[in-house]
Amino acid sequence: MADLDIPPARQLIDGAWVAAADQGELPVLDPATRAPIQPVARARAADVDAAVAAARRAFPGWAATSPTERGAILRRWADLIAAHVDALADHEARDVGKPRSGGRLNMYIAHGIVDYFAGAADKLTGVTLPTRTPDYFGYTRPEPYGVCAVIIPWNVPAVLTAANVAPALAAGNTVVLKPSEIAPLAPFALAELARRAGLPPGVLNVVTGLGPEAGTALTGHRDVDHISFVGSTVTGRAVMRAAAENLVPVKLELGGKSPNVVFADADLDVAIPAIVTSITENAGQNCYAGSRLLVEESIRAEVVERVAAGMAAVRTGAWDQDLDMGPLVSQAQYDRVRGFLAEAPTAGARLVTGGESAGGRHGDGWFVAPTVFDGVDSGMRLAREEVFGPVLAVQGFRGVDEAVALVNGTDFGLLTCIWTSDVSRALRVAADARSGQVAVNQFHDAGVIGFPFNMQKESGFSRGGGYAALREYTQEKAVAVRLLDRPSA
Ligand code: NAD
Repeated sequence: MADLDIPPARQLIDGAWVAAADQGELPVLDPATRAPIQPVARARAADVDAAVAAARRAFPGWAATSPTERGAILRRWADLIAAHVDALADHEARDVGKPRSGGRLNMYIAHGIVDYFAGAADKLTGVTLPTRTPDYFGYTRPEPYGVCAVIIPWNVPAVLTAANVAPALAAGNTVVLKPSEIAPLAPFALAELARRAGLPPGVLNVVTGLGPEAGTALTGHRDVDHISFVGSTVTGRAVMRAAAENLVPVKLELGGKSPNVVFADADLDVAIPAIVTSITENAGQNCYAGSRLLVEESIRAEVVERVAAGMAAVRTGAWDQDLDMGPLVSQAQYDRVRGFLAEAPTAGARLVTGGESAGGRHGDGWFVAPTVFDGVDSGMRLAREEVFGPVLAVQGFRGVDEAVALVNGTDFGLLTCIWTSDVSRALRVAADARSGQVAVNQFHDAGVIGFPFNMQKESGFSRGGGYAALREYTQEKAVAVRLLDRPSA
């Protein structure tokens, strides 16, 4: 491949681009037009078998490669990502439907992640253990699991490829990656760059296929040693059941219903644009999307009005128009989000802006308008369930206790964003929020390097992100040694 075009109807197994064993194909569509972009292979059990076998064969050699050399290959991979940002971004923007600049931002993030684990590969250490007498020696060795299965969704495929594949490889594992059938092109392109960076055949294999075919074949495979799953909570439960069957460790990164919590002393000039971006970036299709706005009653009217104005000003268009927001990714997502739009007013929520599909303005694309509902009650589906679209649910609160009760009022526990000028209050809410991540006076973790992507409750359990991700992809062996008497000279 001279450039980063993906060979049609192929997948990457054992270092080669091959068709599905039964020649099956799946279409990848442009969500702005519903037109096909290109077919990819439709992997089934035979293809998954071939990929796992390739990863198994490659494992001893890769695990025995010096961590410094593994790091060097990852660094070359990172350099190639940096050199191909535009081509990678176009792949991701096109099949997910996000603006081209959003795709580019994702590639900078993916590059940063691979670069981080390139540097971390030879810094993974065990510990020496204290002993009761000097006649013993104890230590731990971090060891790779072997063949890691990585299953990811369609919303940020490049970032999720980097965040799971890079630490797994750095720690000496080999990988079979199954991207979503809806948006596999950026993961394919990243894997091709890893191959060009010198990753040996079989160390990273990428199969594309449907969840009930390729996904279940992978999670149920007897020769897989570790499963990482990123996706919906419903599928996460099925993946965990499959992992239980083979007794392999599983890492789950699932859905969210993250709140922006705005106190009356917040700097609204900073908060308002961040709140709008938090629910319109990637058309609201982010696990950490700020889908709930919890606002102190004394400023509620002002905040709702300003957020609604910001949402109404969001420009929507196809990926190559590079505006603020694209369409939803698929017909299923479109139907799902429109179901919430239809139900919320009948359940008693007040529509402030949006509320309609915006397809008419954009031909056949799966567009919906950025939407704000005020007066949302905790019992409504809109307050509790993940919409995965640009739909914001507003609830008012009085005082810290009520705010914390609302924060913790869903089954999810991914991210809580707190907006206030009172640092003591921010730290109290940060301590009481049942979420894996907290951000104060910003949305998400901008500016922090290696921020652990932690989850609580039904958002899953993961130590992905940062140095802890290396631990996630290693098992610890404990070694105890008795020092025998020195033979006499
Ligand atoms: P999904 O659960 O439908 O699919 C995710 C992946 O799992 C896809 O590759 C799919 O083919 C595969 N799959 C489906 N059924 C399977 C099965 N039975 N066994 C094995 N694999 C199967 O999710 P989606 O619609 O692609 O993505 C949206 C979801 O992902 C949202 O809930 C979002 O919050 C979540 N997400 C979470 C994070 C995070 O880090 N917590 C990040 C991004 C997205």
